[in-house]
Amino acid sequence: VTERVLVLGADGAGMSAAHQALRVAARTGRRLEVVVLERSGHTSYSACGLPYWLAGDVASGDALVARTAAEHRERGIDLRLGAEAVGIDLDRRRVSVRYVDGAAGDEPFDQLVVATGSRAAVPPWALAADGRPVPGVRALRTLDDGAAWLATLEGAAGRQPRTGVVAGGGYIGLETAEAFLRRGLDTTLVTRGEVMGSLDPDMGARVRQELVKAGVTVLHGSEVDGVDVGAGGAVAAVLAGAHRIPADVVALGLGAVPNSGIAAEAGLAVGSFGGLLPDARQQVADGVWAAGDCCESTERHGGRRVYVPLGTHANKQGRVAGENLAGGDVRFAGVLGTAITGFAAGGVHVEIGRTGPTLAQAAEVAADLVSLVTESSTSAGYMPQSSPIAVKVLADRRSRRLIGMQIVGGPGSGKRIDTAAAAIWGGMTVDDVAAMDLSYAPPFSPVFDPVQIACRRTADLLDGDSAGR
Ligand SMILES: Cc1cc2nc3c(=O)[nH]c(=O)nc-3n(C[C@H](O)[C@H](O)[C@H](O)COP(=O)(O)OP(=O)(O)OC[C@H]3O[C@@H](n4cnc5c(N)ncnc54)[C@H](O)[C@@H]3O)c2cc1C
Repeated sequence: VTERVLVLGADGAGMSAAHQALRVAARTGRRLEVVVLERSGHTSYSACGLPYWLAGDVASGDALVARTAAEHRERGIDLRLGAEAVGIDLDRRRVSVRYVDGAAGDEPFDQLVVATGSRAAVPPWALAADGRPVPGVRALRTLDDGAAWLATLEGAAGRQPRTGVVAGGGYIGLETAEAFLRRGLDTTLVTRGEVMGSLDPDMGARVRQELVKAGVTVLHGSEVDGVDVGAGGAVAAVLAGAHRIPADVVALGLGAVPNSGIAAEAGLAVGSFGGLLPDARQQVADGVWAAGDCCESTERHGGRRVYVPLGTHANKQGRVAGENLAGGDVRFAGVLGTAITGFAAGGVHVEIGRTGPTLAQAAEVAADLVSLVTESSTSAGYMPQSSPIAVKVLADRRSRRLIGMQIVGGPGSGKRIDTAAAAIWGGMTVDDVAAMDLSYAPPFSPVFDPVQIACRRTADLLDGDSAGR
């Protein structure tokens, strides 16, 4: 018999699941028919590359497409674009579909993968009276958003934007601010707390200082609460408390919201972040799987539910779902919250890496923590490329285990976070990290890698503490 697998959503999570299911089925001789429904006209593109497309690093939107619809179909997937799932009936095992041409249909399934992803948060102030976004105000979420932004920035609307406001100081806000600045816009970033709220505020402040050096006006501790609209109906200014900031364009970088609506209406549970709650095999009900941005994840250590909508997890979770639905037995190993971003414009180049909880997050579950910021350099001090790097270590006082790390520094800083992620993944202590065999040559690192220096200093601090007790 041939089993019918229906996948909802044709981006990272959905297509990873579809391909892995077919691979495993080919290996085990199982017969699967895989149908993927995608409501947009696009599949398998890198949303992560959108800011770099706007900035001018990427030649075209097509370059961001990892695999075309034709390539998916050649590999045996029945991919249907312009097909929106509008209802799931788990008992009858059918999904109702609305096609872009207005037609409606009903698709049966033996197994279902929900990979409907997320959408950008859009606050009420961004909407005009007709419920549509105020012209000039837009998120950067999809390939269509990217194309629309590019047209706007290139003056397609008959006016060349000169001033841009970015609402939100997270990584998408930061990357969009870079694109604006590199396009010559007078750029203001407005953010509720400190810049990069996924870092401790002292580390976020270091990022803010770099943005200011590059020429970005940063309003931190401020929230956009309205816009002024000009004579033509397009945005003219952003209102944030007492501030009125002239704005020809406004980018929304206010976070992601899981597209879990139709799954929740079908009776599948959602968590406190609004995401689906798969088990470690990415299963949410009998023969029903979920992966990617529509799901909450589980922290690797501690097991808390978190919402970390990142492509790196979407692809891995999709693969796990696809493998298991085809008869395999693998698990998603959890998240640490490892992430990297940067800002390079206006003569500034800052890289940011983070893994594990922030100090505030860790303090909720662990009583006895030590944290220390260590400043060093990215390469031997006598090399021309040597630049400052700050490494914040978070460790458990009793076990001396590394709990978290945050890095802010010049070129070559960001990816160093992966050393810390690997160490935390394996449960290593700060002493272990300080003693590890890491690489060294003057252009790349001081004799001791900055991550090791920071862990060594933290270990010293812990020794001093215990000596003093
Ligand atoms: C600007 C930007 C930069 C980013 N940078 C990074 C980065 O550097 N690193 C990183 O790890 N992550 C990054 N991300 C996040 C990453 O893009 C997402 O985590 C990833 O795309 C999630 O994949 P997904 O398949 O779960 O969901 P999505 O990409 O959201 O795909 C879901 C798909 O489902 C479709 N869909 C939704 N509802 C339905 C329905 N009812 N019926 C049919 N189809 C439906 C949607 O149209 C969409 O195509 C970035 C995101 C953005 C927006």
